[in-house]
Amino acid sequence: MLNADLHCHSTVSDGTLTPEALAARAKANGVELWALTDHDEIGGQQRALEAARAEGMKYLTGTEISVTFAGQTVHIVGLGFDHRNAALADGLRRTRGGRSERAQEMSDGLAKVGIQGAYEGALKYVGNPELISRTHFARFLVEAGVCKDTPEVFRKYLTEGKPGFVPHRWARLQDAVQWIADAGGMAIIAHPARYGFTPNEEYALFTEFKAHGGRGVEVVTGSHSSQEAVRYAETALEFGLAASRGSDFHSPDESHTDLGALPFLPGQLTPVWELLADRIQ
Ligand code: AMP
Ligand code: MN
Ligand code: MN
Ligand code: MN
Repeated sequence: MLNADLHCHSTVSDGTLTPEALAARAKANGVELWALTDHDEIGGQQRALEAARAEGMKYLTGTEISVTFAGQTVHIVGLGFDHRNAALADGLRRTRGGRSERAQEMSDGLAKVGIQGAYEGALKYVGNPELISRTHFARFLVEAGVCKDTPEVFRKYLTEGKPGFVPHRWARLQDAVQWIADAGGMAIIAHPARYGFTPNEEYALFTEFKAHGGRGVEVVTGSHSSQEAVRYAETALEFGLAASRGSDFHSPDESHTDLGALPFLPGQLTPVWELLADRIQ
């Protein structure tokens, strides 16, 4: 089976490697079909496409859109769209809007528990001024010696109920799916096991996603256990969704799953890249 890795992040969002360095690492790890999926941003797509070409690797355009569904944040990966589509670029720009204000509020929350200068500290790690994220705060808090690693920062400071957490309204599910579809791409539910939905909420997510034109789900990802992959393989079949595979790689120092270093998709599933064959560059 094809070694496809269709989910990772560069310095254009919250990864630590440039699109070019990611392409080289993917190639060295045996990736045959690659997609860069920066959060709420397609500014790295042309670079990624050219880097993939230079490495002799097939490429699908990508992004990972932050969506608010049932009061929670859900991520929708888009693949194989036209990265010059103006409506998609505009929707993503609006989704990014508000990140700076949110980051200021996060910093205020951290200051109340004695952590000073977190906004400026996080900014040092930011590659894209429109994309300051919790990941950048986590890197600063590790550097400052507040926590030993980024998962600990999220646990203690950056998740619901913790001092640096600020609720945020992202894009609507139907808009995210439509931006991707209208730009010629395929919308995919990212890492479904990560959301902590009740069975009813999860059923609602998959049902509404399908109704809006969503077509795929990540089954094998760096953030699923093998049991979770089996479970979402069943969900893919139940909802008639194609299956995707991606490491969600962010950094050599932080990510447990390297580019391309994933189990293959379970049998019986339709890989998203079969349906996107004419979008592969
Ligand atoms: P944001 O879009 O600013 O809310 O940041 C979300 C990002 O934080 C995700 O894309 C992950 O890269 C990272 N993240 C979320 N939860 C965790 C966690 N528990 N441990 C480490 N990183 C996390
Ligand atoms: Mn991320
Ligand atoms: Mn995600
Ligand atoms: Mn991701």
